[in-house]
Amino acid sequence: MKLNFKYENKFIILHLIIIVMIMFYALIAWFCDYYDKYVIYALVTTVVIYIVNICLYKVNYFENICVFYIIKLIQLIIASLIIFQQNRFLSNTGVISYILLCIEAIVAFGTDNRLFKYNTLILAVLPFTIGSTYIFVFQMLTIDTLFFMLLKIVILIGVYFIFFSITNELKNQIIIHKDLCSKLNYRNEELRVSQQQFQVVHNQLVGQKAELEEANKRLNRFTAEMYIQNELLRYISSVLDIEELMELVTDSILGAIGVNTCSLVIYDTKKDYYYYKVKSTHDEDYSKCFVSAINSGILNQYFKIGEPYIDNNVSKGSYEFTCNREIGSLVIIPILNDNITYGLLIAEHESSNIIKENSLQFFQGIANQINIAINNANLYAKMEKMAKLDGLTNVYNRKHFQKVLEDFSIEAVKNNKKLSLVLFDIDKFKVINDTYGHIFGDIVLKSVASITEKCAALHSGITGRYGGEEFVIVFPDKAIKETLKIMEIIHERIKEEKIFNNDELVNVDISIGITSYPELCNSTDELIRRADKAMYYSKAHGRGRITIDNMNL
Ligand code: GH3
Ligand code: MG
Ligand code: MG
Repeated sequence: MKLNFKYENKFIILHLIIIVMIMFYALIAWFCDYYDKYVIYALVTTVVIYIVNICLYKVNYFENICVFYIIKLIQLIIASLIIFQQNRFLSNTGVISYILLCIEAIVAFGTDNRLFKYNTLILAVLPFTIGSTYIFVFQMLTIDTLFFMLLKIVILIGVYFIFFSITNELKNQIIIHKDLCSKLNYRNEELRVSQQQFQVVHNQLVGQKAELEEANKRLNRFTAEMYIQNELLRYISSVLDIEELMELVTDSILGAIGVNTCSLVIYDTKKDYYYYKVKSTHDEDYSKCFVSAINSGILNQYFKIGEPYIDNNVSKGSYEFTCNREIGSLVIIPILNDNITYGLLIAEHESSNIIKENSLQFFQGIANQINIAINNANLYAKMEKMAKLDGLTNVYNRKHFQKVLEDFSIEAVKNNKKLSLVLFDIDKFKVINDTYGHIFGDIVLKSVASITEKCAALHSGITGRYGGEEFVIVFPDKAIKETLKIMEIIHERIKEEKIFNNDELVNVDISIGITSYPELCNSTDELIRRADKAMYYSKAHGRGRITIDNMNL
């Protein structure tokens, strides 16, 4: 239990005011000549109360509750003695001092403790009772005064209890308020925690939203790339011309992916030739610069790498083939066939750090498709060529030869040009087959065809297999005389050709018929028929000879 002396200095000031008032009263009483000894008594007692209070306050007497209680008791007895003076001012002063001391004790003890509640009650009432009894016994007060004193005691007790009730009520209300405050604080804390949790959830949601947006962007980009790949795949498979393919690829990449420049270079090993295409969002034509870069061999190093090359922070002038364009990012994808690089796909972007893993996959996908398309085109070209050639002899087959002859005929008629036609048949070929077998017969056919094609080609002649062991040659812009000379050479060559079958030399001869438009034929449609006639003339007249078409056949 601790005493409360927070307000003690204020009580001391109030005691001092009472002393000053009494001194002031004593002074007036002195001058006005109604001064009596009680004034001095009152002054002395209040001063004593005051000094005792000051001294004990200064020396911390309050630490001891018992000492405090006894001192208060004595002070209150002294105050009660003053109350019962005949002098009204002193009497009232005594009452004030008394009340003041009572309040001082109540404040010091507090109202929490039940024991002190009754102790302070005793403190308040007992000295008053002692004082009044003393005055009543020694100064013979009247019965009225006695009742008046009793009434004062009763009122004092009543006021005391009311005071306690009020303070208790106030205390309860304070407790309720404190309780409410603590509940409110608790709720506030709960709200604060909830708010923090909401903030955390909100932050998570914001993060998730950003992630979703990023994923959406990636998805859109991916969809665009997929779309382009599909479109390319659709067209690429139908493109059989390399120039058209390069145009399509560079256009698609530039238009859909948003790169600034796309270049494509493909090396044709057979022709030792570079196909190239540069497409750019800039107005300038970079073709010349790019082709000089190819010719100077600066792209060779990238042909050798064999895998994608990426530079996401291009410093100006690093790549000669970029022709001083402003570039931030660059990717070079090799176009491979059987692990050999024969082409490069180059994409450039003005911004840095653009080429990411997924873009790389996209470009690689395109490079694969380019390779497939080129292979397709090559295959198609081969098939197309094969469709024109005779499978055994490798000269034009009859069907294609007819077409060639038609074209030359139109040309000759249109431009008034000459057109000669030759038909020849191997003599006694059946005997060769029968004697040496069909496989050797095939060798003879190939040999005759090869000699004929090579010699005829030297004079712009085109050879075809007309059927079996029969061949046909067309000489555009050649008169009959020139054709005869050429055929004499071919005839000699075939006759001289040494074809061995197991060390046995097999001689081959042919029967030839020649005709020419417009010298001997009025129409190009007659060429085959007339040449055939001439050839059969040769057959019929000893074989191994050349017959020129004439009216007597
Ligand atoms: P002729 O001098 O009158 O032309 O006599 P020939 O024996 O050459 O004529 P014939 O028409 O009687 O025989 C042609 C033979 O050519 C018949 C056929 O079996 C043969 N032959 C046709 N095509 C081929 C071929 O692709 N390979 C081989 N080995 N023989 C062929
Ligand atoms: Mg024959
Ligand atoms: Mg024949």
